[in-house]
Amino acid sequence: MNNEIYKKNQPASYDYIIAGAGGAGLSLLHYIMHSSSLCSKSILVIDKSFNKTNDRTWCFWDNEISTFENLVNNSWNTISIHAKGFDKELFTAPFSYKMIQGIDFYNSILKEAKSRPNIHFQEAIILDIKVLDTAFKNAQVEWEGGAAVGNYVFSSLLPFQMNQLTSASAFSKSLQLENSLINKAPFLWQHFKGRVVQFDTPVFNKAIAKLMDFNVPQQEATAFIYQLPLNEKVALVEYTIFSENVLATTEYDKVLDTYLAKEFSGATYTITHEEIGAIPMTQIEFATMQAPIYTIGALGAAIKASTGYAFQFIQQQCKNIVAQLEKGIPIQTNIHTTRHQFYDAVLLHILFNHKMEGAEIFKRIFAKNKAATVFKFLSNTSTILEDIKIMRSLPTSIFLPAAIKVLLRRA
Ligand SMILES: Cc1cc2nc3c(=O)[nH]c(=O)nc-3n(C[C@H](O)[C@H](O)[C@H](O)COP(=O)(O)OP(=O)(O)OC[C@H]3O[C@@H](n4cnc5c(N)ncnc54)[C@H](O)[C@@H]3O)c2cc1C
Repeated sequence: MNNEIYKKNQPASYDYIIAGAGGAGLSLLHYIMHSSSLCSKSILVIDKSFNKTNDRTWCFWDNEISTFENLVNNSWNTISIHAKGFDKELFTAPFSYKMIQGIDFYNSILKEAKSRPNIHFQEAIILDIKVLDTAFKNAQVEWEGGAAVGNYVFSSLLPFQMNQLTSASAFSKSLQLENSLINKAPFLWQHFKGRVVQFDTPVFNKAIAKLMDFNVPQQEATAFIYQLPLNEKVALVEYTIFSENVLATTEYDKVLDTYLAKEFSGATYTITHEEIGAIPMTQIEFATMQAPIYTIGALGAAIKASTGYAFQFIQQQCKNIVAQLEKGIPIQTNIHTTRHQFYDAVLLHILFNHKMEGAEIFKRIFAKNKAATVFKFLSNTSTILEDIKIMRSLPTSIFLPAAIKVLLRRA
C-alpha cells in the first residue's frame, strides 16, 4: 500500500476521508469514483488491513440490474421456506435473490481505486476521529504515528468487533450503554456459521434458494438453515440464530453436521469455505457524530433491525450521500423510514420477548403473502396497504400489544 507520510504538525489534507474500507466504505468509494463531479476529489481511504479475505457472502434481493451485477456469482428466482408441517416454494419475480462474494467486491473496487492518482491509502488502526474546527468544517483522523484532515470524514468503524462479543450485555458495555437502554430498545444478535459444501454427486436443486428451514434446534430463540446452491453439487449452507447470546463455534458445527447428514442421507461432502459472523439486530444508535464526520454502514444504522440485512441499505445510503455531495447540500445518512422503523421495532419486540416463535412468524408471513410483497416490506418500499397485509399475517393478539408497547416506549 502507498502509505501517506505524516509530517509532524502538518497532517495531509483531503476532500474526503473514508475511515474503514469494508462494505460501506468501499461502496461509498465506488459511487464517488463514478460521479463525474466528485471523481477527481482527493480521497484518503484508511483501513486496518487491505489484505482482504473472503470473509463474508453478501445476499440481497433486487428488481433491477444491480450496481455490482458483474460481481453477482449466482441468483435465484425461487425461494423456499420450511417449518414443521410447512414447505412452500415462492417465485420471487420481479425480484431476484442475488449473491456476491465479499472478496470479489473488495478486489474489484480496490483495483479501480488504486489506478486513480487522487485516491490514497493508509493501512493503520484508527485511534480517534474528531472535529478539528467547526468554523473551517474539517475533522482529523488519527492513527499511531500519523493523522490526516478531511473536509468530510465517513466512518464505518464499529466500536466493537462483531465476532468478539458474546452477549447483549457485553455489547452494551462496549458501547458504554446502560442496561436500561437495552431494555428500552431490544437487542438481538443474528449470529451464524456457514459452510460451502461440495458433494460428489448432484444433491441440490440449483434453481431454489432455501431461505429459511426452521427444522433445526431453535436454541430457545429463532434459528434456521439457509441453503444457497451454487450448482447441483455445491451450496452455501448456514445455520443462523436470532438470540441474545452467540454460540460456541462447535455448537454451529454440530447442527450443520446433523442437518447435512440427515438432509442428504449421509452422502459425503468436503467443506471448501467457512464463514462465521454476528450482526446486531437493534435500533440502539452505535454512535452520534458531529458534522463533518458522518457514520455509514453498520455504524450508520444501515442494518435493518428486524432482519440483519444491510447490503442494499448501504448501497442506498452511499448513493444518497454522493447525491448530496454533488448538490452541496447537508449530508443526511438516515436510510430507514419512520414507518418501517416502527414495524422493525414491533417485530424485534415480539422476537426479543418471545411473544411468538420466529419460525411461526416467518411461516405465517410467507404463507399468506407473495415473496415480492415480503421483499418490498423488508426493503422499506412497501405501500401502507402492503404493510397492513403483512402485519395481518400475525395474530392481532400478538401484533397489537407489541405495537402499543413500542408506541408507549417511544412516547
Ligand atoms: C459474515 C457476514 C455476512 C453478512 N452477510 C450479509 C448478507 O448476506 N446480506 C446483507 O444484507 N448483509 C450482510 N451482512 C451485514 C452487512 O452487510 C455487513 O456487516 C457489511 O459488511 C457492513 O458494512 P460496514 O462497512 O458497515 O462494515 P465492515 O464491512 O465490517 O467494514 C468495516 C471496516 O472498518 C475496518 N476497521 C474497523 N475498525 C478499524 C480501525 N480501528 N481502524 C481501521 N480500520 C478499521 C475493518 O477492517 C473493515 O474493513 C453480513 C455481515 C457479516 C459479518
